[in-house]
Amino acid sequence: MNASRYQPFLPDRLYIEEAVQNNPWTTRILARLSKAERIPIPDQQALPPAPAGKNILLSRQRGPFLRYCPGTSRHICCLYHNLDIAAGCDLGCSYCILQGYLNVPMTTLYCNLDDMFIELDQVLDSHPDHFYRIGTGELSDSLTFDHFTAWSSDLVNYFRQRRNAIIELKSKNTHIEHFISLPHDRRTVVSWSVNAAAIVASEEPHTPSLAERLEAAAEAQAAGFWIGFHFDPMIRHEGWEEGYHEVVEQIFRRIEPRNIAWISLGALRYPPFLDEIIRDNHPESRIFLGELLPGADHKFRYFKPQRIEMFARMYRWIKAHGQETPVYLCMESDEVWRKAFGWSPGSSAGLKRFLDERVGG
Ligand code: SF4
Repeated sequence: MNASRYQPFLPDRLYIEEAVQNNPWTTRILARLSKAERIPIPDQQALPPAPAGKNILLSRQRGPFLRYCPGTSRHICCLYHNLDIAAGCDLGCSYCILQGYLNVPMTTLYCNLDDMFIELDQVLDSHPDHFYRIGTGELSDSLTFDHFTAWSSDLVNYFRQRRNAIIELKSKNTHIEHFISLPHDRRTVVSWSVNAAAIVASEEPHTPSLAERLEAAAEAQAAGFWIGFHFDPMIRHEGWEEGYHEVVEQIFRRIEPRNIAWISLGALRYPPFLDEIIRDNHPESRIFLGELLPGADHKFRYFKPQRIEMFARMYRWIKAHGQETPVYLCMESDEVWRKAFGWSPGSSAGLKRFLDERVGG
C-alpha cells in the first residue's frame, strides 16, 4: 500500500475549561498530548476569536449528551439518537455541514463523560422496552480524535453491558486501536463513510484512503464487530456509476454480508446558507457541477429522478451480493423509497423496526 496521505491530527494548543481541569478524561488526553501547550480558561467565553494553529477546546457538555437526530421534515427518518461528545472535525471535507453550524472557533471535546454515562443510565433504564441506536458521528467523526482520547474504549465497554441499545462509531478514519481487542458482545457497530474514488480524491483530500478504511473495516470484522457503511453524500460526477459500483465491489471483496449491520445511501443535500460557505472554503470543489434544486425541506438536492436513479442502481449492485444486507435511505420520501428499491418501510417507525431487528433490537 502507498504511504498514507492522511496525517493524524495533533493539536498545538489545548484550551482547558476550569470545569473539566481535574476530570479523568481530560487527564487522559493531557497525558497523550504532552507536547501541546495548555491554556486554562474559566469557560469558552474566554476563547480568543480566531486563534492560529491547531487548537482543541476541552469543555464540559452543559446540555444533554443524548438527543434525537433532527432528521428532516416530510421524509422517512431512522429515529436515531446522537450522542454529542465532540463538535468539530479535522478532516475538512468540502461538503461538510459542520462548516456552517459550529460557533466555536475550534473543535470541542466534551470531557465530562461521567455525566454522559449517568445520563445514558437514566434514559436507557427508564425505557427498557425501547431500543436505542446511538451514534457519536453527527457533530464530529467518531474516531478521528480517538488516537488521543481513546473514548471508543469507554463506549464499547459501556454498551457491551446494555441490552436495549447499540452504539455506532461512524468514521472516515482508521483509529481502531483502542477498542479492537475489547470484548463487545456485538453492541457496537463500527461504520465507515465511503465514496467513489474520484470524490474521495477531490472532496475528502485529508482523509484516509478508501483502501485504508476498508482495511480497518476488515480488521473490525475479524474482531467480531458489526460493520456499517454509509454512502453519504453520494455526488453525481463524471463516471459516478463506475465509481460507486467499484466501491460496492471492494466492500464485498472484504466484508461478509452477514457481518454488515446496514448500508445507508444519501444524496448530496445542504441548506442554502451553506452554498456560499462551501464556495468560499473550497473553490476547487466539484460538488456544484451537478444540478441542485431546493426540495420540500428547502435543502438543495438533486432532482428527484436523478436521486432515484442513483439509489436504484446502488440497491441493485448491493443486492447482487445477496439479499441479507439491509440497505436504507437517509432522509428520503416514501415515494423515492418505492421507486428506487421497490418497497418502503412506510414510516419512520417502520424504518426504525427494520434497522433495530438487524442488530437484535
Ligand atoms: S469526516 Fe465528516 S465531520 Fe469530518 S469533515 Fe468530513 S464530513 Fe465533516
